Parts: sequence; structure tokens; C-alpha cells
Amino acid sequence: MAQIPFDQRDGKIWYNGQIVDWKDAKLHVLTHGLHYGSSIYEGVRIYNYKPFKLKEHMERLKHSANCLGFELPYGVNELCEKFLEQIALNDIANGYGRPAAWRGSETMLIGGEGTKINVILAVWKSFENKRNELRENGIRLCISKWRKPNADSSPYSAKCAGVYTLCTIAKNEAVGNGFDDALLLDSRGFITEGTTSNVFFIYGNELHTPTADCFLNGITRQTFIHIAKEKNIKVVERHISLDEAKKADSAFLTGTAIETNPIKSIDDKEYSLSNEIYKLLSNEYSKLVNS
Ligand code: PMP
Repeated sequence: MAQIPFDQRDGKIWYNGQIVDWKDAKLHVLTHGLHYGSSIYEGVRIYNYKPFKLKEHMERLKHSANCLGFELPYGVNELCEKFLEQIALNDIANGYGRPAAWRGSETMLIGGEGTKINVILAVWKSFENKRNELRENGIRLCISKWRKPNADSSPYSAKCAGVYTLCTIAKNEAVGNGFDDALLLDSRGFITEGTTSNVFFIYGNELHTPTADCFLNGITRQTFIHIAKEKNIKVVERHISLDEAKKADSAFLTGTAIETNPIKSIDDKEYSLSNEIYKLLSNEYSKLVNS
């Protein structure tokens, strides 16, 4: 079934403190955020009417705003409260939420001085069909020809539009070449992350994941590390080269939207899809988000 375009859905959106009809939540074509990427967002999953790690997501939204040099006109607690109201108002039992903020159309100067900071909170029901298929078969990744910028060349800890330019290009090239998605290396040749997810590798009884020093330290990544430590699984955060990554027994991705997905292959390297540690961690994550 074709997806309903996102500007043609029913529901309500919280827009700069007002509740507006979904189809009326518009902005002008001459908007700073659109032209110069001065926009930030969050993705939050909703399970049985409860958003998972909502405060952490809103705090990251605030952090992203600060990375781009602006302040959110609403506090974290207020945004959390309004987000919960949106879930109830739109009756979203299981779904996804998108808080976002951007500089408005008051100026087209690059610095965006004096622009209004616009904020929205949107929530919608999510559909899992494609995700279930990828989970069952494992995801087939390639190494992108694009490299993550160095830590001093990108606001890598922010979820901002500019960071996602590369992710979109890498994803489309991967799909064009017959893969499901891409992993990106950094300029040192170390594995960083997927286009919208973090990556883990399992070596025997140990869980290894790249040090998040030039890419997003995902909330799901942190949750998986926490679960693994609680289960007495040794967690190693380190720089991982592609050669080392290919020596792992199993590998998987994590992220709010995908939750977790086993990796079937990276380029021509195939991984085992039946790994006890992975099964344990993914079950524990599932229990946690649904608790
Ligand atoms: N890396 C990137 C580039 C992402 O877009 C995401 C999704 N937000 C992640 C990692 C995973 O982050 P989280 O677990 O906080 O969703």
C-alpha cells in the first residue's frame, strides 16, 4: 500500500505553542532552515502510549540547538509535557514522534541573526512491515565511499540537517548498488555508524562498538551498552577498522526507529544471524521499551 504523503495526513500538530490541523502546519519557501540547514530534529518511539526515553530525546534536541548556535524557546520539561499531550490528542498507541526546530524566514543572511526559532511536535502511527522483513533476513550493508567528517569539521553530536545530507546520499547510493543501507568510515578508516543507526560487533562473548568520537552516541546505543553490562557481557568501545569488523562473528545496528537489526553482510563479508548474545540483548531491549 502506498504511503500517505506526510503533508496530507490527518491529525494535529503542536506548532509554536498552538495546536494546528496537520495539513495547515506549513512554512514559507524562504526559510533559513531550509536553505542553510539550520534545523534540528529528534525521533522518539511510542510504545503503548508511552514515549521511550522522552526526556533524553528532548535534552538532545536542546543540545542540537545549542550546537547550531540557538536556544529553544521552550524548556525540556514543557516540550515533554506537550509531547505527551500530542500522543493523547492523536491517539497514538504505538508510533513515532518527531520534535523539530528551525530558524525561520526573517532573514536570508547566513548567520540567521534575529530569526524566530520555530518548534513542532508531530506524532504518527508507525508501520512495521518492511522493518520485520529486514529483521528476519538481516540487513545487507555496504561501506559507503563517503567518509564521516572529522570531529572538528562537523557538529557530529547534533541531530541537525547538515549531518544528514551525507546519510541521504550514502543510503541512496547503497540502495542503487543493490544493498539495503550503508556504513560510513571516518577519515582514519575506522567504522563509524550507519545512515540512521549505530553499529555493534560480537566477538565470542564480547560486545564491541566504535568509540563515538565523530558520530552520534545514540540513545539506543547507550541503552544496549547498559543492558549488556547489566547482563555481565563485556563491552568494549574502541576504534574498529574495516578489517577488524570483518572478523566479528555477528553484527547488528541500533536506533530509535529500527530498534535493532541484525546485519547479514557488510560488502562481501557474511555474519551469523543466530547469535545468543544478540538474541539476549534484543529480547531485553524489547522488554524494556514495552515495560
Ligand atoms: N546515528 C544516526 C546518524 C542516527 O540518525 C541515529 C538515529 N537517531 C542513530 C545513530 C541512533 O540514535 P538513537 O539511538 O538515539 O536513535
